[in-house]
Amino acid sequence: MSDCIFCRIAKGEIPAKKLYEDDDVLAFHDIHPVAPVHILVIPKLHIPSMAELQPEHAPVMGKVMTVAAKLAREQGCTDGFRSIINTGRVGRQEVYHLHVHILGGPDVLPAMLKR
Ligand code: 5GP
Ligand code: ZN
Repeated sequence: MSDCIFCRIAKGEIPAKKLYEDDDVLAFHDIHPVAPVHILVIPKLHIPSMAELQPEHAPVMGKVMTVAAKLAREQGCTDGFRSIINTGRVGRQEVYHLHVHILGGPDVLPAMLKR
């Protein structure tokens, strides 16, 4: 996907502050962090959103989640963190390349949704 910003980051065409990379998974700092720790973890494969996940994606998504947990530990999120996957219009997804947000830091995060 030549016009996908996260594919371009994965190919090294656009710079990013990378935290982890292997053949299947890439993690980098969000360009507009909303918490002291704000990491994005992506499969290098272009999957537009969580809604498009298929059974054959299970191994790479397992790697994505495992890398996310490892990086959360390494970034000091020992008291917990929040992982978010925004999906589609209703989920207010902005970048249509599946990604997991990891949010954390020393303080307790605000409630996920207001009642
Ligand atoms: P979404 O709303 O799709 O779940 O989140 C997309 C995220 O990607 C946003 O938090 C946004 O700040 C981040 N983002 C968008 N473009 C770039 C970019 O070029 N580089 C990085 N590092 N993050 C980006
Ligand atoms: Zn992509």
